[in-house]
Amino acid sequence: MTELTCIVCPVGCRIRVERDGNELKISGHGCPRGLTYAREEITAPKRILTAVVKVAGSKRMLPVKTKVAIPKAKLFPAMQEIKAITVSSPVTVGQVITDNLAESGVPLVATGTIPGDD
Ligand code: SF4
Repeated sequence: MTELTCIVCPVGCRIRVERDGNELKISGHGCPRGLTYAREEITAPKRILTAVVKVAGSKRMLPVKTKVAIPKAKLFPAMQEIKAITVSSPVTVGQVITDNLAESGVPLVATGTIPGDD
């Protein structure tokens, strides 16, 4: 049996997952979103990745995040790719920095703004 703490909302339900052959028996979730979370966490875990990227000609860093969660197996190659990115100002919040981070099919977007004169 595996015990998980659901991270989908602040309630933090303790969810128990038992394997029964090819089936998963999931209990302890307070809502359907927790059921989906537990099933994904056991079969194909994903995470939203947050980081910063360099801004050309500036000491400031631009905060970024993946638009949706990416497979955990993609986190390391994604960080390697993010380290090599330098953006040019201006950048606005929500702007796509790269549209297929680490070949995950998920865009990396700005979560901050860098004005043009920075
Ligand atoms: S199972 Fe539902 S209620 Fe419980 S923490 Fe997850 S999202 Fe929140």
